[in-house]
Amino acid sequence: MTTETRLRIAMQKSGRLSDETQQLLKRCGLKLNVGDRRLLAHVTNMPIDIMRVRSSDIPGLVMDGVCDLGIVGDNTLEETALERELLGQNSAYTKTTGLNFGGCRLSLAMPEEFNYTGLASLDGLRFATTYPQLMKRFAKENGINVDFCLLKGSVEVAPRVGLADGICDLVSTGATLEANGLKEVEVIYRSKASLIQGVELAPEKQAILDTLLPRIQGVMKAKESKYIMLHAPKDKLEEVSNLMPGKETPTVLPLAGRDDLVAVHVVATETFFWETMEALKALGCDSILVMPIEKMMG
Ligand code: ATP
Repeated sequence: MTTETRLRIAMQKSGRLSDETQQLLKRCGLKLNVGDRRLLAHVTNMPIDIMRVRSSDIPGLVMDGVCDLGIVGDNTLEETALERELLGQNSAYTKTTGLNFGGCRLSLAMPEEFNYTGLASLDGLRFATTYPQLMKRFAKENGINVDFCLLKGSVEVAPRVGLADGICDLVSTGATLEANGLKEVEVIYRSKASLIQGVELAPEKQAILDTLLPRIQGVMKAKESKYIMLHAPKDKLEEVSNLMPGKETPTVLPLAGRDDLVAVHVVATETFFWETMEALKALGCDSILVMPIEKMMG
């Protein structure tokens, strides 16, 4: 086997995106052992290699054609693209598909005691950030003048030690900000993980992606969907169908020895809340089961 005919995918080696990326690839049927120290892991059952690197290196590796695909946060992707544009380096890529993990926001945060009265109150201040390009773009679009200092980690500590007035950093729950005496004042960018590719793939690599992509989409759809089974009163079928989240038509099956009840099966493509189950129960439904789906296609 030659490396030219294998699709090379860059993923984060360790960090917030690595576990979910690895799980996604496994659920797509890729057999790989990334548990060891190998930085280039061979997939044994498909012509694919996985390159495990720092998140911040992934966009550049894809843009330079070293890797064919990459799984990376939109924040890292956008920051790198802006930086490379500025340096006159190749910054072209295609977003193959968005992924449903790695959700976070890039926010401006100030010390709790700061009197925030809108963006204008940030004018002339200095921010510590790992994302200077995204921050500069936001400041320009919003007509404020801010200064920044680059920190690759522990950004939250900057105001306390006098390095900056505020920070511009990634937030998911806000707990880290709170623990460091900071409050979120503006969201400047919302991010999720994405699968990206260099602009054009060789036909044989495109063929591998054509097999992989529907699997990725199937895994994501399955993750968001639930299989619901219940017994419903025959005369309440319409009300029961209306309560089902998602657009699938329910399957209705007879129940042995029961003229008043039927079995209803449906794939729900949206969140199935306890409130919906309670409403179904109130309609006279029984034996309500909500089950995870492992794979989906079509
Ligand atoms: P690396 O160390 O691999 O170069 P990193 O320092 O950005 O990258 P992580 O902190 O693991 O590594 O974050 C990886 C990505 O996870 C982020 O770029 C972002 O897209 C996503 N993410 C999701 N939630 C958060 C969060 N609360 N804080 C930081 N990143 C988050």
